[in-house]
Amino acid sequence: MKKHNFSAGPCILPQEVFQQASEAVLDFNGTGLSILEISHRSKEFVAVMKEARALALDLLGLSGKGYHAVFLQGGASMEFLRVPYNLMTVNGKAAYLDTGTWASGAIKEAKAFGDTVVVASSKPENYNHIPKSFEIPTDADYFHCTSNNTIYGTQMRQFPETNVPLVCDMSSDIFSRTLDFSKFDLIYAGAQKNMGPAGTTLVVIKEGLLNKTGRSIPNILNYQQHIDKESMYNTPPVFAVYTSLLTLKWLQNLGGIPAIEKVNEAKAALLYNEIDRNPLFKGTAATEDRSKMNATFLLENEAHAALFDNLWKNAGISGLNGHRSVGGYRASMYNALPLESVQVLVDAMKELERIA
Ligand code: PMP
Repeated sequence: MKKHNFSAGPCILPQEVFQQASEAVLDFNGTGLSILEISHRSKEFVAVMKEARALALDLLGLSGKGYHAVFLQGGASMEFLRVPYNLMTVNGKAAYLDTGTWASGAIKEAKAFGDTVVVASSKPENYNHIPKSFEIPTDADYFHCTSNNTIYGTQMRQFPETNVPLVCDMSSDIFSRTLDFSKFDLIYAGAQKNMGPAGTTLVVIKEGLLNKTGRSIPNILNYQQHIDKESMYNTPPVFAVYTSLLTLKWLQNLGGIPAIEKVNEAKAALLYNEIDRNPLFKGTAATEDRSKMNATFLLENEAHAALFDNLWKNAGISGLNGHRSVGGYRASMYNALPLESVQVLVDAMKELERIA
């Protein structure tokens, strides 16, 4: 039986994408070859890469607006390093907002390159909210933030108005909600939540942003190289890119980001209403910063844990355990998770209330 998969990533993808990807493993588009054995330089795969890059920009509303999209490797963690390497000038300065483990991972990497100013941090409160009042130094080379904090279940609703380039790690909420993406100068996102399997990272870069640091950047770490080589500087992760393309097409057929946003709002409302209504549960994130992708919550009484764990596991739910740094539960409700799965979880919460 197919599980209701609430995993934080890698995570559920559309069922039809699993089907199409598995067919391509056996015979890619009638070529008589598997997607796993074709050359990345074949015209068939070059077309996949081209379409994936174009469709990513299209869905974000950035086509024709002076942006490049590339599919890279090394995970979002590699972009923690590539961002300062490519954007922080020698003797320069960068500004970071510290909203969680991943944000602080990015900060750690930036510190190796220069003056890294943490404009605000919610660490003392175990990252249960997004700091709202902070100042970005006007002489910073860029400002970096994390739109959705996968571990802590918080999400930025507002992004600062600033004259410095805006860089955002959107790994866990890209393609999930409408935003004015043209406000951002660089966006990156590991594929393994809303886009595809693990193994590739989408990086969207505004023209004119690069080549200003005075640094010598190794080719593999140099965004300009990857743009110039059309994401084929070295052998790309063909299967991850192809499966990402299938997911992006699925989203396009659904009506794009505005259509999935409605579903995501319905799922989040259903679950948070139950967390707030049910006296046995409480949320961990500040209400105004609650993430629509990852809902983190606790039992009011730990003594109910064994009973509740049994209930959700027997209901066919998988991947509900919270991250070890928060504990409790985390329900990740990425684009491909159906509303019905959230209903199954809510029913298990109601059942606990009835029998506990
Ligand atoms: N940023 C965010 C917001 C994440 O959720 C994650 C992983 N869950 C990362 C960065 C790190 O991604 P990766 O494992 O692809 O390096």
